[in-house]
This record gives sequence, structure tokens and C-alpha cells, in this order.
Amino acid sequence: MQFLSPATWAEALAVKADLPDATPIAGGTDVMVELNFRRHRPPALLDLTRVPGLASWSLEGGRIRVGAGLPYSRIMDELGGRLPGLAMASRTVGSPQIRNRGTLGGNLGSASPAGDGHPPLLAGGAEVELASVRGVRTVPVAEFFTGPKRSVMAVDELIAAVLVAPAEGPEQFAKVGTRNAMVIAVGSFALALHPSRQAVGTGVGSAGPTPLRAPEAEEFAAAHLPWESRAALDPETARRFGELVSAAASPIDDVRGSAAYRRHALAVLARRTLTWAWSELCG
Ligand SMILES: Cc1cc2nc3c(=O)[nH]c(=O)nc-3n(C[C@H](O)[C@H](O)[C@H](O)COP(=O)(O)OP(=O)(O)OC[C@H]3O[C@@H](n4cnc5c(N)ncnc54)[C@H](O)[C@@H]3O)c2cc1C
Repeated sequence: MQFLSPATWAEALAVKADLPDATPIAGGTDVMVELNFRRHRPPALLDLTRVPGLASWSLEGGRIRVGAGLPYSRIMDELGGRLPGLAMASRTVGSPQIRNRGTLGGNLGSASPAGDGHPPLLAGGAEVELASVRGVRTVPVAEFFTGPKRSVMAVDELIAAVLVAPAEGPEQFAKVGTRNAMVIAVGSFALALHPSRQAVGTGVGSAGPTPLRAPEAEEFAAAHLPWESRAALDPETARRFGELVSAAASPIDDVRGSAAYRRHALAVLARRTLTWAWSELCG
């Protein structure tokens, strides 16, 4: 197996164009599991860790550009104020070692329906920046995933960054698993309140072939939250919101949980996170 370690982004894109079967590797926390269990034997590994700037973030045109190589530990330390939902989700990923190595770009690259980075990106209306020698394109994260572990990324493309507006209201993330730490989500949910446009963003994980939004729940909450009065949240509104989030999911029975449990858990997570976020906004 070849190990290719480009020193520039242009070089990385040129390698991917020449060798589309080369597997990019960032933190390696998914790639190395695949290799160790002999599930995947690529002809070449394309190491992205030497590419300058990939593990950084910046403010660009009012949005935050999170480089694909930024690890969870730095998202937590450096972006907790601007992207609280993503930082909350990052805190739940694996162990400190995994959070130091694992990256947001790697989470998107794996495109697992259970990836914890995905729900907050959906709730925040993020876009994924994809690059190749042919050019750069941005794809709304809601259109990025096409199936379990599949995405719109072409064979010659690499993920450069994620573009997302800084939170302008409270954000939440919650996940259930078989234990508190080192767990793949049985179900997860992210919520973002956008008070200036009286809108609500959602992201659901581990409850369908891809991470997904719950548009009917978003519309319901936007229409029923007392934005002007900032009155306390009606428990019935929270309950109905949970029900609509649960209805948006299409979970399966698997070793981690049944479809029925996932639907129930999602309704509870959605109800709770809406309650927490609304009290933060009005408190
Ligand atoms: C013990 C353990 C616990 C874990 N716990 C969690 C958890 O709680 N939640 C969770 O979501 N995940 C978890 N994971 C999975 C993993 O840590 C995450 O998916 C992480 O984000 C992967 O990032 P990485 O940089 O290590 O990716 P890598 O393993 O380097 O790559 C992952 C995939 O993305 C591709 N890729 C990487 N960078 C790019 C790029 N720039 N452009 C295009 N493709 C790219 C790779 O080719 C590969 O297909 C866990 C893994 C382990 C081993």
C-alpha cells in the first residue's frame, strides 16, 4: 500500500485526481478501524495531516469556515461560543484520544448515519465545501448524504471545509446510547433557534439511512413558539414538536436498539432540547 503525504492542498487534489482510489486519511479513527479489521484495503492512503490550513477555522463573509481537519477537541475549546451545538456534539464523541485525533471532515467523509457532527450541522444550515482539480463547490449538508456511508462527494473530490453561520440563538445537542461515554448514538438530536427570523433548525442522527432534518417539526415550532412575548413554552407545543421529530425519522431495528425505542427516544430528546433552548432564550 502506498502512503502519500502531500505538503500542499493543490498537491493533495492532484493526487486524488490521479489516484481516485486513494483513501484520504485525517485523524484515522475510522480509516484505521477499517484497515485493522481488513474491511478495506485501499491501494494508497492519502494523508491530509500535513496540508497547511486544513486544521484551522476562520470567519469568512459572516460565516465560520471550519477546516475539514479541525479535531473535535479544538472545536470544543475554540468554537464553543460561536457554534455551541457543534461543540456539545463534539464533547460526546468517543474519548479524549478520539476527540484529539478525530475531525469533522472525517466524520463527513465516513457519512455514517450515527455521526455526531452531522445533526448540529443540519440544524445550523451548514454547507460542505468540496474541492477537486476541477474546482470548488458547496453543497448544503442536508444534500450531502445520499445513503448509509454514502455522499455526493465525487471520487476525485476532497472535503475542504464546512461553512456555517455562527449561532444567533441557543443551540442544543443530545444523544442516547447504551452508556454515557465511548458510545455510538442509538439516537441523537440537534436543535438551533434562530430568533431573528423566528425559525428553528433540526438535525436527527442514527434514525434513518442518512442524518436528516425534521421539516414539519421545524415549521410547527416556528409557527407555535411565542417569539414576540417570550412566554414560557407550552408543554403541549414541546410534546407535539417531539412527536413530529419522531415521525420524520425512519429508524431500523439493529443491535443497538429497536426502531420503536429510537422513535420514542427521539421524541423525548426533541421535547427536552426545545424546552432547554427556549428557557435559555427567555431566561
Ligand atoms: C473508539 C472510537 C469511538 C468513536 N466514537 C465516535 C462517536 O462517539 N461519535 C462519532 O460520530 N464518531 C465516533 N467515532 C468515529 C470517528 O472517530 C469519527 O467519525 C471521526 O470524526 C472520524 O474523523 P477522522 O479524522 O479520524 O477520519 P478518518 O478516519 O481519517 O477518515 C474517515 C473517512 O473520511 C474520509 N476523509 C477524511 N478526511 C477527508 C477529507 N478532507 N476529504 C474527503 N474525505 C476525507 C476518509 O477517507 C474516511 O473515509 C469513533 C471511533 C472510534 C475508533
